[in-house]
Amino acid sequence: MEDRFIFTKYRTTCYNCGKEADQIIKAVPFQAQVLCDNCGATRIFIPRIEDVTKPGSFTKIGCYDLWELVSDAHCRNCNVTGPHDINIGCSHFTVRCRNCGFTHFYKFDLEYIAQCPIEQ
Ligand SMILES: [Zn+2]
Ligand SMILES: [Zn+2]
Repeated sequence: MEDRFIFTKYRTTCYNCGKEADQIIKAVPFQAQVLCDNCGATRIFIPRIEDVTKPGSFTKIGCYDLWELVSDAHCRNCNVTGPHDINIGCSHFTVRCRNCGFTHFYKFDLEYIAQCPIEQ
């Protein structure tokens, strides 16, 4: 399961069904997704850049609240497992290693209402 990278949840009001529900957040090196546990609304993000950056790089003002989360993950740049800052907006998804600053920047790609788990 080395490729799983990020698996976490964020409880908030879903933009699609309008209910307060867990938004399931998964990221692997080739894709990131946010899935509403209630209605199945899914947003897919695809990788654009990987680089060592300062905090806040790539973070743009989105069309709704920016989610700021922290999750433990294994960094393949510094090879340390530790906290990663996750920022999710409507058009971007970034994961940044706190230890070395290595950042995965994903760009919003598509959105659909269904279940499409990342293969494990
Ligand atoms: Zn929903
Ligand atoms: Zn790192």
